[in-house]
Amino acid sequence: MQIYNQTNLAQTFGTPLYVYRIEEVRRAVNRLRVALPAPHRLYYSVKANPNPGVVRELVGLGLHSEVSSGGELAVTLAAGQPPDRVLYTGPGKTTAEVSDAIRRGIRLFSVESEVDYRRIGAEAAKAGAVVEYLIRINGGGMGSGTGAGLRMTGRPSQFGIDLDALWSMPEVLAGSPVARPVGLHFYSVTNVTEEDALADEFAANIRLAAYVIDRAGLPAVLVDLGGGFAAPFAQPGAAPRYKKLRPMLERLLDTHIAGWRGEQPTIMFEAGRYLVGGCGTLLSRVLDIKRSQGRVYVVLDAGINVLGGVSATGRLRPPRVQPCDTARPSGPPVRDPRTTEPVTLVGPLCTPIDVLSRTTDLINPQVDDVIAIPNVGAYGLTASVLGFLSRQPPLEVLLGADHDMPAVTTLTLQRVETTGERRG
Ligand SMILES: *Cc1c(COP(=O)(O)O)cnc(C)c1O
Repeated sequence: MQIYNQTNLAQTFGTPLYVYRIEEVRRAVNRLRVALPAPHRLYYSVKANPNPGVVRELVGLGLHSEVSSGGELAVTLAAGQPPDRVLYTGPGKTTAEVSDAIRRGIRLFSVESEVDYRRIGAEAAKAGAVVEYLIRINGGGMGSGTGAGLRMTGRPSQFGIDLDALWSMPEVLAGSPVARPVGLHFYSVTNVTEEDALADEFAANIRLAAYVIDRAGLPAVLVDLGGGFAAPFAQPGAAPRYKKLRPMLERLLDTHIAGWRGEQPTIMFEAGRYLVGGCGTLLSRVLDIKRSQGRVYVVLDAGINVLGGVSATGRLRPPRVQPCDTARPSGPPVRDPRTTEPVTLVGPLCTPIDVLSRTTDLINPQVDDVIAIPNVGAYGLTASVLGFLSRQPPLEVLLGADHDMPAVTTLTLQRVETTGERRG
């Protein structure tokens, strides 16, 4: 049996190459499960990494799936996830997506607006199906800090329904014979490293859930408290342990949501990066090293087309790399201060925005070195602009001079399983 390490993987398959370690996924699942109140139901957010093998592993470990596109749904079902363990979310569901999901057996949606509710109800009626939905609330926060996190709701947002507005949506609150409300959905922050900040966020959601359920007289079968569990991205380090979270949340749930211990309601959580961030490493080759007006540029064969394209929006920290084989995803960075010079790490794309890091320490980088970028199992390849959320790329249509005879081109990003040597 061939034993792979980073060096022979790069030789065998070429670079850039994403490598995922399944046992890291298992460890992360175990770590998160013990940090959460019991009983709970845990959803894997497929957008963090829709790789079929990774999704299959998480399905096999008993996680439910949270999806927000037809592509994510297809991967999830192909991985063996029963449709009744899938939650379909997202602020811009199309009629086609919803009807397709219902046809594939999905019966639980997160409703993000009145329009979204009507669309889901109409498609359920057409399909002769009865669907259930969570009302996504734009709430949470209540003034708490969020560590290094990115706030999704609790301020003007495209996600969820403002609490004020909800009271003037009797249809959404009441549902219909084919679309029935079964609970609430919160997802207010992401990537919160500070345990207290994350606990505050959940506390706010728990109180809000109790209040809304009580005031609206909602049947509370499910309460999805969301997530926000953090993981390092493209730099060394380990995800937080959240040791205090479980007792804190159990106390709060006992106070505000009686019945949760007997799963009336079922308490749900969602996690993406926490579960898969640590499993992935990107291997990339140094193509060139140049000096220009006092700066060193290391040119890699992986650019923002492969990693961090979405972070080029500036809301995420740029990656930082560490050298191959000295790299353990969770270990400290290995560097020798005497031989290290700060370099700007760039990709091969012909645009000045193709920068992966402006402050990287590399030990004596050499042309042809393979370097490893750790902790990119989440939002790595899937967050490379066109790959984001497994959506189809737009068609390209070529119009003739008379605006006739359009030539239509599709950029296909289909996954193909290959074995053995792919590139030199
Ligand atoms: C993206 C997303 C998640 C997962 O976020 P992570 O930060 O990767 O844990 C969970 N729920 C919803 C609704 C999301 O949009």
